[in-house]
Amino acid sequence: MKHSHSATEHNDGYSSLYRQIPSLHDLLLTPRFAALLETEPRTATIAATRIVLSRLKQEIGEGRHTPASLASALACVHATVADQIAQASRYSLRRVINATGVLLHTNLGRAPLSASALAHILETACGYCNLEFDLDSGERSRRDVHAEELLLQVLRPQGKEIIAQSALVVNNCAAATFLALNALAEGGEVIVSRGELVEIGGGFRIPEILAKSGAILREVGTTNRTRLSDYEDAISPATRLILRVHQSNFSMEGFIEKPALNDLVSLGKRCEVPVFDDQGTGLITSLEHHGIRSEPTLLHSVRVGADLIAASGDKLLGGPQCGILTGRADLVERIRKHSLYRAFRVDKLTYAALEATLMEYAMDKSSAIPVQRMLHASAEDIFRRCQWICEQVSSDHLVAEAVPVQSVIGGGTAPTARLQSAAVSLGHPTLPPLTLLLALRRFEPPVIGRIHEGQVLLDLRTVEPEFDTTLVLLLRTIDLSQA
Ligand SMILES: *Cc1c(COP(=O)(O)O)cnc(C)c1O
Repeated sequence: MKHSHSATEHNDGYSSLYRQIPSLHDLLLTPRFAALLETEPRTATIAATRIVLSRLKQEIGEGRHTPASLASALACVHATVADQIAQASRYSLRRVINATGVLLHTNLGRAPLSASALAHILETACGYCNLEFDLDSGERSRRDVHAEELLLQVLRPQGKEIIAQSALVVNNCAAATFLALNALAEGGEVIVSRGELVEIGGGFRIPEILAKSGAILREVGTTNRTRLSDYEDAISPATRLILRVHQSNFSMEGFIEKPALNDLVSLGKRCEVPVFDDQGTGLITSLEHHGIRSEPTLLHSVRVGADLIAASGDKLLGGPQCGILTGRADLVERIRKHSLYRAFRVDKLTYAALEATLMEYAMDKSSAIPVQRMLHASAEDIFRRCQWICEQVSSDHLVAEAVPVQSVIGGGTAPTARLQSAAVSLGHPTLPPLTLLLALRRFEPPVIGRIHEGQVLLDLRTVEPEFDTTLVLLLRTIDLSQA
Protein backbone atom coordinates (compact mmCIF):
# COMPACT_ATOMS: atom_id res chain seq x y z
CA MET A 1 0.00 0.00 0.00
CA LYS A 2 1.29 3.34 -0.99
CA HIS A 3 0.27 4.88 2.26
CA SER A 4 2.18 2.45 4.48
CA HIS A 5 5.14 2.66 2.13
CA SER A 6 5.42 6.38 2.57
CA ALA A 7 4.94 5.97 6.32
CA THR A 8 7.89 3.58 6.40
CA GLU A 9 9.93 6.01 4.40
CA HIS A 10 8.96 8.65 6.90
CA ASN A 11 10.04 6.45 9.81
CA ASP A 12 13.30 5.67 8.06
CA GLY A 13 13.85 9.41 7.79
CA TYR A 14 13.21 9.76 11.51
CA SER A 15 15.49 6.92 12.49
CA SER A 16 18.32 8.44 10.50
CA LEU A 17 17.68 11.66 12.42
CA TYR A 18 17.55 9.77 15.72
CA ARG A 19 20.92 8.25 14.87
CA GLN A 20 22.44 11.72 14.65
CA ILE A 21 21.82 12.25 18.34
CA PRO A 22 24.97 11.49 20.31
CA SER A 23 24.89 9.38 23.45
CA LEU A 24 25.18 11.09 26.79
CA HIS A 25 28.49 9.32 27.33
CA ASP A 26 29.99 10.57 24.06
CA LEU A 27 28.74 14.10 24.61
CA LEU A 28 30.34 14.36 28.01
CA LEU A 29 33.68 13.48 26.45
CA THR A 30 33.62 16.37 23.98
CA PRO A 31 35.87 19.37 24.80
CA ARG A 32 32.88 21.71 25.15
CA PHE A 33 31.23 19.53 27.76
CA ALA A 34 34.57 19.07 29.51
CA ALA A 35 34.70 22.88 29.76
CA LEU A 36 31.13 22.97 31.05
CA LEU A 37 31.99 20.38 33.70
CA GLU A 38 34.75 22.62 34.99
CA THR A 39 32.21 25.17 36.15
CA GLU A 40 29.01 23.16 36.65
CA PRO A 41 28.40 20.24 39.01
CA ARG A 42 28.49 16.86 37.27
CA THR A 43 25.07 15.63 38.43
CA ALA A 44 23.38 18.86 37.35
CA THR A 45 25.12 18.71 33.96
CA ILE A 46 24.11 15.09 33.39
CA ALA A 47 20.51 15.77 34.42
CA ALA A 48 20.33 18.82 32.14
CA THR A 49 21.91 16.96 29.19
CA ARG A 50 19.37 14.13 29.56
CA ILE A 51 16.54 16.64 29.43
CA VAL A 52 17.96 18.40 26.36
CA LEU A 53 18.57 15.12 24.49
CA SER A 54 15.15 13.72 25.23
CA ARG A 55 13.58 17.00 24.14
CA LEU A 56 15.42 16.71 20.80
CA LYS A 57 14.15 13.14 20.36
CA GLN A 58 10.65 14.25 21.11
CA GLU A 59 10.93 17.04 18.54
CA ILE A 60 12.08 14.51 15.94
CA GLY A 61 9.13 12.27 16.81
CA GLU A 62 6.80 15.20 16.29
CA GLY A 63 8.29 15.78 12.83
CA ARG A 64 9.73 19.17 13.82
CA HIS A 65 13.27 18.55 12.51
CA THR A 66 14.95 18.44 9.12
CA PRO A 67 18.54 17.15 8.91
CA ALA A 68 19.67 20.78 8.68
CA SER A 69 17.71 22.03 11.70
CA LEU A 70 18.87 19.07 13.77
CA ALA A 71 22.47 19.70 12.81
CA SER A 72 22.26 23.31 13.95
CA ALA A 73 20.54 22.29 17.20
CA LEU A 74 23.32 19.79 17.84
CA ALA A 75 26.00 22.32 17.03
CA CYS A 76 24.95 24.42 20.01
CA VAL A 77 23.79 21.61 22.29
CA HIS A 78 26.33 22.56 24.96
CA ALA A 79 24.84 26.06 25.12
CA THR A 80 21.33 24.61 25.40
CA VAL A 81 22.53 22.40 28.24
CA ALA A 82 24.14 25.39 29.97
CA ASP A 83 20.79 27.25 29.71
CA GLN A 84 19.01 24.23 31.08
CA ILE A 85 21.37 24.08 34.08
CA ALA A 86 20.81 27.78 34.72
CA GLN A 87 17.06 27.26 34.54
CA ALA A 88 17.11 24.29 36.91
CA SER A 89 18.99 26.31 39.53
CA ARG A 90 16.62 29.25 39.30
CA TYR A 91 14.15 29.82 42.12
CA SER A 92 10.47 29.62 41.33
CA LEU A 93 9.75 32.75 43.40
CA ARG A 94 11.58 35.57 41.68
CA ARG A 95 11.91 39.29 41.84
CA VAL A 96 10.04 41.03 39.02
CA ILE A 97 9.77 44.65 37.90
CA ASN A 98 6.16 45.71 38.35
CA ALA A 99 5.48 48.14 35.52
CA THR A 100 1.71 47.63 35.65
CA GLY A 101 1.14 50.82 37.63
CA VAL A 102 -0.96 48.84 40.10
CA LEU A 103 0.58 49.71 43.46
CA LEU A 104 -0.86 46.84 45.46
CA HIS A 105 -0.88 44.01 42.96
CA THR A 106 -1.87 40.89 44.86
CA ASN A 107 -0.45 38.65 42.11
CA LEU A 108 2.87 40.50 42.35
CA GLY A 109 3.16 40.24 46.11
CA ARG A 110 1.44 43.50 47.14
CA ALA A 111 3.59 45.97 49.09
CA PRO A 112 7.37 45.89 48.59
CA LEU A 113 9.18 46.19 51.93
CA SER A 114 11.29 49.14 53.04
CA ALA A 115 15.05 48.90 53.35
CA SER A 116 14.87 48.96 57.12
CA ALA A 117 12.26 46.19 57.13
CA LEU A 118 14.62 44.05 55.04
CA ALA A 119 17.57 44.91 57.25
CA HIS A 120 15.59 44.03 60.36
CA ILE A 121 14.52 40.70 58.86
CA LEU A 122 18.12 39.91 57.99
CA GLU A 123 19.46 40.88 61.36
CA THR A 124 16.91 38.96 63.41
CA ALA A 125 16.42 35.94 61.18
CA CYS A 126 19.98 35.01 60.37
CA GLY A 127 20.51 34.12 63.99
CA TYR A 128 18.37 33.61 67.07
CA CYS A 129 16.14 36.36 68.40
CA ASN A 130 14.01 37.17 71.44
CA LEU A 131 10.77 36.23 69.67
CA GLU A 132 9.12 34.93 72.84
CA PHE A 133 11.77 35.74 75.39
CA ASP A 134 11.88 38.60 77.86
CA LEU A 135 15.43 39.89 78.04
CA ASP A 136 14.84 41.53 81.45
CA SER A 137 13.34 38.63 83.33
CA GLY A 138 14.92 35.89 81.24
CA GLU A 139 11.52 34.27 81.05
CA ARG A 140 9.15 33.30 78.34
CA SER A 141 7.06 36.15 76.91
CA ARG A 142 4.47 36.76 74.19
CA ARG A 143 5.47 37.34 70.58
CA ASP A 144 2.77 40.04 70.28
CA VAL A 145 4.85 42.52 72.22
CA HIS A 146 7.07 43.17 69.22
CA ALA A 147 4.34 44.98 67.31
CA GLU A 148 1.80 46.01 69.92
CA GLU A 149 3.52 49.02 71.51
CA LEU A 150 4.42 50.60 68.18
CA LEU A 151 1.04 49.90 66.66
CA LEU A 152 -0.72 51.60 69.54
CA GLN A 153 1.73 54.48 69.35
CA VAL A 154 1.20 54.98 65.61
CA LEU A 155 -2.56 54.64 65.95
CA ARG A 156 -2.96 56.84 69.03
CA PRO A 157 -5.10 59.80 68.02
CA GLN A 158 -3.33 63.06 68.70
CA GLY A 159 -4.45 64.91 71.80
CA LYS A 160 -6.68 62.06 72.83
CA GLU A 161 -5.61 59.40 75.25
CA ILE A 162 -7.23 56.13 74.42
CA ILE A 163 -6.99 53.75 77.31
CA ALA A 164 -7.01 50.00 77.50
CA GLN A 165 -6.25 49.43 73.85
CA SER A 166 -4.47 46.37 72.67
CA ALA A 167 -3.36 44.81 69.39
CA LEU A 168 -2.31 41.50 67.94
CA VAL A 169 -1.09 40.19 64.63
CA VAL A 170 -2.20 37.18 62.60
CA ASN A 171 -1.49 35.81 59.15
CA ASN A 172 -3.66 38.20 57.13
CA CYS A 173 -6.76 40.33 57.40
CA ALA A 174 -8.97 37.43 56.32
CA ALA A 175 -7.66 35.40 59.28
CA ALA A 176 -8.10 38.41 61.58
CA THR A 177 -11.74 38.78 60.56
CA PHE A 178 -12.47 35.09 60.90
CA LEU A 179 -10.73 34.81 64.26
CA ALA A 180 -12.49 37.85 65.68
CA LEU A 181 -15.91 36.60 64.55
CA ASN A 182 -15.27 33.12 65.90
CA ALA A 183 -13.88 34.32 69.22
CA LEU A 184 -16.47 36.99 69.85
CA ALA A 185 -19.65 35.90 68.12
CA GLU A 186 -19.82 32.11 67.75
CA GLY A 187 -23.39 30.98 68.30
CA GLY A 188 -24.65 34.57 68.39
CA GLU A 189 -25.75 37.10 65.79
CA VAL A 190 -23.63 39.53 63.83
CA ILE A 191 -25.41 42.46 62.20
CA VAL A 192 -24.15 43.43 58.73
CA SER A 193 -25.56 45.79 56.11
CA ARG A 194 -26.63 44.09 52.86
CA GLY A 195 -24.48 46.65 51.09
CA GLU A 196 -21.39 45.20 52.76
CA LEU A 197 -21.82 41.49 52.09
CA VAL A 198 -18.86 41.65 49.75
CA GLU A 199 -16.41 39.28 48.16
CA ILE A 200 -12.92 40.63 48.60
CA GLY A 201 -10.94 38.52 46.15
CA GLY A 202 -9.55 35.02 46.26
CA GLY A 203 -13.03 33.87 47.32
CA PHE A 204 -13.09 35.73 50.65
CA ARG A 205 -16.83 36.26 51.03
CA ILE A 206 -18.19 37.88 54.15
CA PRO A 207 -21.34 35.70 54.41
CA GLU A 208 -19.28 32.52 54.05
CA ILE A 209 -16.65 33.61 56.55
CA LEU A 210 -19.41 34.46 58.97
CA ALA A 211 -21.02 31.06 58.51
CA LYS A 212 -17.68 29.29 58.98
CA SER A 213 -17.01 31.28 62.13
CA GLY A 214 -20.17 29.86 63.66
CA ALA A 215 -21.80 33.26 63.91
CA ILE A 216 -25.28 33.90 62.56
CA LEU A 217 -25.54 36.57 59.91
CA ARG A 218 -28.23 39.12 60.58
CA GLU A 219 -28.52 41.12 57.34
CA VAL A 220 -30.03 44.56 57.52
CA GLY A 221 -30.97 47.26 55.04
CA THR A 222 -30.72 46.88 51.28
CA THR A 223 -27.87 46.77 48.81
CA ASN A 224 -27.86 50.52 48.31
CA ARG A 225 -29.38 51.91 51.48
CA THR A 226 -28.99 50.96 55.10
CA ARG A 227 -30.00 53.31 57.91
CA LEU A 228 -28.93 53.47 61.52
CA SER A 229 -32.45 52.45 62.50
CA ASP A 230 -32.07 49.23 60.50
CA TYR A 231 -29.17 48.27 62.75
CA GLU A 232 -31.00 49.41 65.85
CA ASP A 233 -34.11 47.37 65.01
CA ALA A 234 -32.02 44.24 64.55
CA ILE A 235 -30.32 44.40 67.94
CA SER A 236 -31.53 41.69 70.29
CA PRO A 237 -30.12 39.72 73.24
CA ALA A 238 -28.62 37.36 70.65
CA THR A 239 -26.52 40.14 69.07
CA ARG A 240 -22.79 39.76 69.64
CA LEU A 241 -21.33 42.25 67.19
CA ILE A 242 -22.12 44.95 64.68
CA LEU A 243 -19.81 44.34 61.72
CA ARG A 244 -18.79 47.14 59.38
CA VAL A 245 -16.98 45.96 56.24
CA HIS A 246 -15.02 48.34 54.06
CA GLN A 247 -16.45 47.83 50.58
CA SER A 248 -12.88 47.88 49.29
CA ASN A 249 -12.95 46.65 45.71
CA PHE A 250 -16.15 48.23 44.41
CA SER A 251 -18.04 51.46 44.79
CA MET A 252 -21.65 52.50 44.49
CA GLU A 253 -23.03 55.72 43.21
CA GLY A 254 -26.44 57.31 43.17
CA PHE A 255 -29.23 56.58 45.63
CA ILE A 256 -27.10 55.28 48.46
CA GLU A 257 -26.99 55.70 52.20
CA LYS A 258 -25.18 54.19 55.11
CA PRO A 259 -24.56 55.40 58.62
CA ALA A 260 -21.18 56.89 59.44
CA LEU A 261 -18.91 54.71 61.54
CA ASN A 262 -19.19 57.07 64.52
CA ASP A 263 -22.98 56.75 64.46
CA LEU A 264 -22.64 52.97 64.52
CA VAL A 265 -20.21 53.30 67.42
CA SER A 266 -22.67 55.50 69.36
CA LEU A 267 -25.42 52.99 68.72
CA GLY A 268 -23.15 50.15 69.82
CA LYS A 269 -22.26 51.99 73.05
CA ARG A 270 -25.90 52.68 73.77
CA CYS A 271 -26.90 49.05 73.23
CA GLU A 272 -23.70 47.54 74.62
CA VAL A 273 -22.85 45.80 71.38
CA PRO A 274 -19.23 46.06 70.21
CA VAL A 275 -18.63 47.46 66.71
CA PHE A 276 -16.11 45.50 64.66
CA ASP A 277 -14.68 47.43 61.70
CA ASP A 278 -13.10 45.35 58.93
CA GLN A 279 -11.09 48.34 57.75
CA GLY A 280 -8.92 46.40 55.32
CA THR A 281 -6.45 48.84 53.80
CA GLY A 282 -4.38 49.75 56.87
CA LEU A 283 -4.12 53.27 55.46
CA ILE A 284 -2.39 55.52 58.01
CA THR A 285 -2.25 58.94 56.36
CA SER A 286 -5.20 60.18 54.35
CA LEU A 287 -5.06 60.16 50.55
CA GLU A 288 -6.80 63.52 50.33
CA HIS A 289 -3.92 65.35 48.72
CA HIS A 290 -4.14 62.81 45.89
CA GLY A 291 -7.73 63.87 45.42
CA ILE A 292 -8.95 60.59 46.96
CA ARG A 293 -11.46 61.52 49.63
CA SER A 294 -13.40 58.29 49.79
CA GLU A 295 -10.71 56.19 51.40
CA PRO A 296 -11.04 56.00 55.20
CA THR A 297 -7.91 55.70 57.33
CA LEU A 298 -7.16 53.27 60.09
CA LEU A 299 -6.68 56.30 62.34
CA HIS A 300 -10.22 57.40 61.59
CA SER A 301 -11.56 54.05 62.79
CA VAL A 302 -9.53 54.36 66.00
CA ARG A 303 -10.49 57.98 66.51
CA VAL A 304 -14.23 57.38 66.24
CA GLY A 305 -13.87 54.56 68.73
CA ALA A 306 -14.58 51.33 66.87
CA ASP A 307 -14.31 48.59 69.50
CA LEU A 308 -12.24 46.33 67.28
CA ILE A 309 -10.54 46.96 63.93
CA ALA A 310 -9.03 44.54 61.41
CA ALA A 311 -6.54 45.65 58.74
CA SER A 312 -4.07 44.16 56.28
CA GLY A 313 -0.35 44.63 56.77
CA ASP A 314 0.60 44.54 53.08
CA LYS A 315 -1.85 47.01 51.59
CA LEU A 316 -1.47 50.76 52.12
CA LEU A 317 0.37 50.28 55.40
CA GLY A 318 3.19 49.05 53.18
CA GLY A 319 4.41 46.22 55.39
CA PRO A 320 4.52 42.42 55.26
CA GLN A 321 1.50 40.18 54.71
CA CYS A 322 -0.31 40.02 58.03
CA GLY A 323 -3.60 40.91 59.64
CA ILE A 324 -3.72 43.46 62.42
CA LEU A 325 -6.42 43.37 65.08
CA THR A 326 -6.56 46.36 67.36
CA GLY A 327 -9.11 47.71 69.78
CA ARG A 328 -10.53 47.25 73.26
CA ALA A 329 -8.12 45.32 75.44
CA ASP A 330 -10.82 42.94 76.77
CA LEU A 331 -11.88 41.95 73.24
CA VAL A 332 -8.31 41.52 72.00
CA GLU A 333 -7.55 39.44 75.08
CA ARG A 334 -10.42 37.06 74.29
CA ILE A 335 -9.04 36.65 70.79
CA ARG A 336 -5.50 36.13 72.08
CA LYS A 337 -6.74 33.34 74.36
CA HIS A 338 -8.63 31.64 71.54
CA SER A 339 -7.19 28.29 70.53
CA LEU A 340 -7.10 29.27 66.84
CA TYR A 341 -4.83 32.24 67.53
CA ARG A 342 -2.00 29.71 67.79
CA ALA A 343 -2.84 28.46 64.30
CA PHE A 344 -2.99 31.94 62.79
CA ARG A 345 0.03 33.51 64.46
CA VAL A 346 2.89 34.93 62.39
CA ASP A 347 6.59 34.16 62.42
CA LYS A 348 9.62 36.22 63.35
CA LEU A 349 10.15 37.44 59.75
CA THR A 350 6.73 39.05 59.77
CA TYR A 351 7.24 40.67 63.16
CA ALA A 352 10.61 42.02 62.06
CA ALA A 353 9.17 43.54 58.88
CA LEU A 354 6.06 44.90 60.59
CA GLU A 355 8.00 46.38 63.50
CA ALA A 356 10.40 48.16 61.13
CA THR A 357 7.52 49.46 58.97
CA LEU A 358 5.67 50.78 62.00
CA MET A 359 8.89 52.36 63.24
CA GLU A 360 9.06 54.41 60.01
CA TYR A 361 5.61 55.80 60.75
CA ALA A 362 6.46 56.38 64.41
CA MET A 363 9.64 58.26 63.45
CA ASP A 364 7.85 60.29 60.77
CA LYS A 365 9.86 58.62 58.02
CA SER A 366 7.02 57.05 56.11
CA SER A 367 8.60 58.19 52.83
CA ALA A 368 11.04 55.31 53.38
CA ILE A 369 8.14 52.93 52.78
CA PRO A 370 8.02 52.02 49.06
CA VAL A 371 4.22 52.12 48.76
CA GLN A 372 4.17 55.59 50.32
CA ARG A 373 6.93 56.76 48.01
CA MET A 374 5.15 55.40 44.95
CA LEU A 375 1.86 56.98 46.03
CA HIS A 376 3.51 60.37 46.44
CA ALA A 377 5.67 60.36 43.28
CA SER A 378 4.63 63.25 41.02
CA ALA A 379 3.32 62.56 37.52
CA GLU A 380 5.85 65.08 36.15
CA ASP A 381 8.82 63.25 37.68
CA ILE A 382 7.53 59.93 36.38
CA PHE A 383 7.05 61.45 32.92
CA ARG A 384 10.64 62.74 32.88
CA ARG A 385 11.94 59.27 33.81
CA CYS A 386 9.89 57.80 30.95
CA GLN A 387 11.32 60.35 28.54
CA TRP A 388 14.87 59.51 29.59
CA ILE A 389 14.28 55.79 29.12
CA CYS A 390 12.70 56.38 25.70
CA GLU A 391 15.70 58.43 24.56
CA GLN A 392 17.99 55.62 25.64
CA VAL A 393 16.15 52.75 23.99
CA SER A 394 14.48 54.11 20.86
CA SER A 395 15.90 52.50 17.74
CA ASP A 396 14.84 51.19 14.35
CA HIS A 397 13.65 48.11 16.18
CA LEU A 398 11.85 49.66 19.08
CA VAL A 399 9.48 52.60 19.09
CA ALA A 400 9.42 54.05 22.60
CA GLU A 401 7.39 57.05 23.62
CA ALA A 402 6.59 58.65 26.97
CA VAL A 403 2.82 58.93 27.43
CA PRO A 404 0.57 60.11 30.26
CA VAL A 405 -1.45 57.30 31.86
CA GLN A 406 -3.41 56.66 35.02
CA SER A 407 -2.35 54.24 37.74
CA VAL A 408 -4.65 52.49 40.17
CA ILE A 409 -3.96 51.60 43.77
CA GLY A 410 -5.23 48.02 43.63
CA GLY A 411 -5.53 45.55 46.50
CA GLY A 412 -9.16 46.48 46.97
CA THR A 413 -8.37 50.12 47.72
CA ALA A 414 -10.23 53.12 46.31
CA PRO A 415 -11.36 51.19 43.22
CA THR A 416 -12.48 54.25 41.29
CA ALA A 417 -9.50 56.43 42.19
CA ARG A 418 -6.88 57.15 39.54
CA LEU A 419 -3.42 58.58 40.04
CA GLN A 420 -1.99 60.62 37.18
CA SER A 421 1.12 58.83 36.02
CA ALA A 422 3.28 58.23 32.96
CA ALA A 423 4.38 55.21 30.98
CA VAL A 424 6.89 54.12 28.42
CA SER A 425 4.75 53.06 25.46
CA LEU A 426 6.50 50.42 23.38
CA GLY A 427 5.97 49.34 19.81
CA HIS A 428 7.98 46.90 17.72
CA PRO A 429 7.86 46.71 13.91
CA THR A 430 7.32 42.94 13.82
CA LEU A 431 6.34 41.79 17.30
CA PRO A 432 2.63 42.08 18.11
CA PRO A 433 1.89 43.59 21.57
CA LEU A 434 1.18 40.23 23.25
CA THR A 435 4.50 38.82 22.02
CA LEU A 436 6.30 41.94 23.14
CA LEU A 437 4.71 41.64 26.57
CA LEU A 438 5.91 38.02 26.73
CA ALA A 439 9.43 39.05 25.67
CA LEU A 440 9.45 41.52 28.58
CA ARG A 441 8.44 38.75 30.97
CA ARG A 442 11.35 36.65 29.74
CA PHE A 443 13.84 39.27 30.88
CA GLU A 444 15.95 38.75 33.95
CA PRO A 445 14.44 40.20 36.07
CA PRO A 446 11.07 39.77 34.32
CA VAL A 447 9.29 43.02 33.48
CA ILE A 448 5.50 42.98 33.87
CA GLY A 449 3.71 45.52 31.70
CA ARG A 450 0.20 45.85 30.37
CA ILE A 451 -1.55 46.47 27.07
CA HIS A 452 -3.80 49.45 26.65
CA GLU A 453 -5.44 50.23 23.31
CA GLY A 454 -2.99 48.05 21.43
CA GLN A 455 0.10 49.58 23.06
CA VAL A 456 2.46 47.93 25.50
CA LEU A 457 2.74 50.25 28.49
CA LEU A 458 5.34 50.32 31.24
CA ASP A 459 3.94 52.54 33.99
CA LEU A 460 6.88 53.75 36.05
CA ARG A 461 4.91 54.76 39.14
CA THR A 462 5.42 51.24 40.49
CA VAL A 463 9.05 50.98 39.35
CA GLU A 464 11.62 52.28 41.81
CA PRO A 465 13.86 54.85 39.99
CA GLU A 466 16.98 52.78 40.68
CA PHE A 467 15.61 50.28 38.17
CA ASP A 468 15.50 52.77 35.29
CA THR A 469 18.98 51.83 34.11
CA THR A 470 18.17 48.13 34.38
CA LEU A 471 15.08 48.76 32.25
CA VAL A 472 17.19 50.54 29.63
CA LEU A 473 19.71 47.71 29.45
CA LEU A 474 16.94 45.13 29.18
CA LEU A 475 14.95 47.04 26.56
CA ARG A 476 18.03 47.47 24.40
CA THR A 477 18.27 43.68 24.11
CA ILE A 478 14.72 43.26 22.81
CA ASP A 479 15.77 43.07 19.23
CA LEU A 480 18.73 40.82 19.90
CA SER A 481 16.53 38.36 21.74
CA GLN A 482 14.19 38.15 18.76
CA ALA A 483 16.95 37.86 16.15
C1 LIG B 1 -8.12 43.20 51.63
C2 LIG B 1 -9.21 43.09 52.60
C3 LIG B 1 -9.36 41.92 53.36
C4 LIG B 1 -8.47 40.75 53.18
O1 LIG B 1 -7.17 41.07 53.59
P1 LIG B 1 -5.97 40.03 53.39
O2 LIG B 1 -4.88 40.63 54.22
O3 LIG B 1 -5.70 39.97 51.95
O4 LIG B 1 -6.43 38.73 53.94
C5 LIG B 1 -10.40 41.86 54.26
N1 LIG B 1 -11.24 42.90 54.41
C6 LIG B 1 -11.12 44.05 53.71
C7 LIG B 1 -12.08 45.14 53.93
C8 LIG B 1 -10.09 44.17 52.79
O5 LIG B 1 -9.96 45.32 52.09
